[in-house]
Amino acid sequence: MLDAPTPASWPCAVCDRPSAPRVHPGCQERIRDNLAALPGLYRALAGELTPGRRGGDGRSATRSAPIPCNLDVLDLRSRGGLEGVVASWAADLCERERWQLPEYGTVEAAVEGYSGLLVINLTLLCDEHPAIRELADEVRKIVGQARRIIDGEDPPRRVPVACPCGHILRITLDTAGVRCPACETSYGHAEALQLPLAESRAAA
Ligand SMILES: [Zn+2]
Ligand SMILES: [Zn+2]
Repeated sequence: MLDAPTPASWPCAVCDRPSAPRVHPGCQERIRDNLAALPGLYRALAGELTPGRRGGDGRSATRSAPIPCNLDVLDLRSRGGLEGVVASWAADLCERERWQLPEYGTVEAAVEGYSGLLVINLTLLCDEHPAIRELADEVRKIVGQARRIIDGEDPPRRVPVACPCGHILRITLDTAGVRCPACETSYGHAEALQLPLAESRAAA
């Protein structure tokens, strides 16, 4: 006789951990946070285009033809950069739902508009979209790329999280994965980020 228990949950479509909804609320929240951060990141990247900005407060970059100091910034700010990621997912969404894809006159407006469209429809996407994991990954990667430039390529901040075994793991937000040395459990990116934060007792 088969007596397999009725599953009350199945693997989250983003992180594979058991979840009652198709995508964990936590995973959905992360996608939303990343999408919502994109317009601000896009604007912040403008400040990374001209050399020497860090020392000179108040001095606007009026010198003629500033040499682009960071081609990555140009890439991210062009059509097809940050915009390309949200535009293609927005186009995909509109096609599936038979909506008309909005068009925008500037890249900045497009980043804002498409990110907003995806945020508004995120529950629908999480409930139904077959490639929600790819969407989550692409958005996370592009946000990470932008943040690393804006944060000045500082070493990624490490966050203490608690493995269920009690061991404290120190992970970066863009970690590809981590293995607990104490209990030898391996965590993927999304799993690692879902471990509970460990309050570090020592005041830094
Ligand atoms: Zn999840
Ligand atoms: Zn452990």
